[in-house]
This record gives sequence, C-alpha cells and structure tokens, in this order.
Amino acid sequence: MPKVAVCLVDGKRHDYDRGSFLWNLRPGIKNRIVRDYPKAQGSSFICYEHLLPYQIETIQAMIRSDEKQMNKINRKLTRTMADKEYQVTDVNETLQNTQTFGQKIADRVAEVAGSWSFIIFYIVVLVAWITINGLHLFGVHFDPYPFILLNLFLSCVAALQAPVIMMSQNRAAYRDRMSAENDYHINLKTEEELRILHAKMDHLMQHQFEHNLEVQQMIFEILTEMKITTPPPKKYFPGNDKPKS
Ligand SMILES: [Zn+2]
Repeated sequence: MPKVAVCLVDGKRHDYDRGSFLWNLRPGIKNRIVRDYPKAQGSSFICYEHLLPYQIETIQAMIRSDEKQMNKINRKLTRTMADKEYQVTDVNETLQNTQTFGQKIADRVAEVAGSWSFIIFYIVVLVAWITINGLHLFGVHFDPYPFILLNLFLSCVAALQAPVIMMSQNRAAYRDRMSAENDYHINLKTEEELRILHAKMDHLMQHQFEHNLEVQQMIFEILTEMKITTPPPKKYFPGNDKPKS
C-alpha cells in the first residue's frame, strides 16, 4: 500500500510517486509555488499535474533572462563597433587627397636629393667642372681656379635644398603624428570590443551553459513525471478499435 499525501493546490490525495514534496524541488520552482500559496512549506506536497505549470514557467523565465542578457551584450557590442568616434582612417589616402602641387614637388625633390644617384651625379658634375676649367680642356675655361662660379652655384643649390627638405620633413612628421593618432584610436576600439567580447564569453560560460544544462534537466524531469502520470496506451489490435455493438 503506497503512502498517500494531500496536494496543496486542490486538497486531493495522491500517491507519493505522483507528486513531489516542496523540499525536493528547485528553488526557482519552489519560490513560484510559495508566491501563489504563501502557506506552503517544505513539507507540503504538490501533484505532478499542478507542478507542471510552475516548471514550465521557471524554464521560460530562465530562457527569457538569458535572452535579455545576451541581447544587452550584443547591443553594446554593435554600438561600440559602429562608434563614429573610433572611425579608422587611411592615413595615406587622406594625405594624398590633401596634398598640394608644391608639397608633391617638395616630396619628390627630397626623395631625389636623398639618394645615392644624386650624390654620384653631384660628384661627376664637380669633377667634370673642375677638370674642364682647371686643365683648360677643349679650350674651355669659363670658371678658372678657384672656381667662384661653381661656389656660387653650389651655395644656391644648398640654400634652396634646405627649405625643400625641411618642408618634406614637416610633412613626414605630420604623417607620423596622424598615423600614431590613428593607431591609438584603433587600439582603443579594439580594447573596447575585446572587453565586451570577454563579457559575452564570460556570460556564455558562467550562466548560459549552466542554465542550458539546468533547463535540459528540468525538461527531462517533466518527461519522467509525464510518463508516471499518463496511463499506458490500450493495446491496439487491428479491427478491434470499433466499439462492439
Ligand atoms: Zn494537485
């Protein structure tokens, strides 16, 4: 003779295996029952039929809360990724688009003047100039020793070259500054995104997986209870389903 308990919802008597005592239930389910029946205690009994709505409500609440939390994190991530303040700029393209004709020439001159070919060309010109004028080759001596015209020419080149190179250097410095600023913004954005991704992962690992497992366990429990409470199907024989007259 199985033991019998009284269901706290409708006061009907049930076998022990057709329901559960409140102390055996999960805290979430128990709290919901106590919310509706404040007099319920740990030793109170509830039949599976009346327990089912509370189990379903608990599962739905868990899924909803996880969804809410996930949406919150996703929204934050989307907002950070779309943040205009962190817009990444292509430094080269920006500089090229704002370059004036003079600046282009300055860059080109600095590039040529800072090359070995320019030095070699310079040496060749100097040697030729000195040789032709010093030795009176081909009867030419338009700039005799001590080559005053050559000095004037070299001074002019140096005087012009210096500001052009400085102009180009200024531009290089500006470009470096822009690049550093850009890097800083990219780092900042990456850091922020990583932080949110971390939060997302933490949430997934710590809460979502745990909740998923718990929900699965609860569904399994419901299925087991349903198997207990549902009467077994009547044996089916072909031609036997019509009521006998
Ligand atoms: Zn009941």
